[in-house]
Amino acid sequence: MRPEHQGIGMTSQRTRERLVQRLRKKGIRHQGVLEALRNTPRHIFVDEALASRAYEETALPIGHGQTISQPYTVARMTEALLEVGRPEMVLEIGTGSGYQCAILAQLVRRVHSVERISALLDQARIRFRELGLRNIRLKHSDGGIGLPEYAPFDGIIVTAAPAGLPQTLLQQLAIGGRLVIPIQNNKGRQVMVRVTRTSDGFQQEYLESANFVPLIGGMI
Ligand code: SAH
Repeated sequence: MRPEHQGIGMTSQRTRERLVQRLRKKGIRHQGVLEALRNTPRHIFVDEALASRAYEETALPIGHGQTISQPYTVARMTEALLEVGRPEMVLEIGTGSGYQCAILAQLVRRVHSVERISALLDQARIRFRELGLRNIRLKHSDGGIGLPEYAPFDGIIVTAAPAGLPQTLLQQLAIGGRLVIPIQNNKGRQVMVRVTRTSDGFQQEYLESANFVPLIGGMI
């Protein structure tokens, strides 16, 4: 890790160690996921002014009205994707800061990530280069249509909440593939679910409640 990524004080390796202890207490078990969170300098994914809060259990603003998910949520979604075997090809909808993507990239062969705000993509691209992550492909696009040219995926993770399960994304799952996604229900609440594609259909499991920005159409 480069010296500036190592961090000091509130952004140091020790702070990340404490974060991992907290995640363990909250029920995250997957060793690979914990290792990836331990090794990833989250403070470079937020504004410098917020760097000292980067390891708190909170969502932080990343500009353009968007937020970086809290560490627990990133860990939980990644674990949900990896629990039943390691996927090779993963699609993320909503690159945002790039933090979730950077975690995934350390655990699977290739990550494709799609974002509708080009300014966020540009920043994320710089961070991935700095961290030496080379198995990420980014695309400026409306994630509602998925990424048909690279489908099927063993895993799809959606980090913004649509009103219902997007059929397009389900169709881009390989057999045995899993979609982890927050969904806005009709009471205005969000739930995180995992949908697994089987040889004869789809199986849906409720994971927990969630609090993501909405998935919206169009690109800027
Ligand atoms: N995974 C991100 C979380 C970012 S918040 C991180 O780790 O930082 C959700 C992101 O989804 C925002 O950047 C938002 O612009 C993006 N988003 C919302 N609707 C989208 C859509 N239809 N297509 C692609 N990205 C979308």
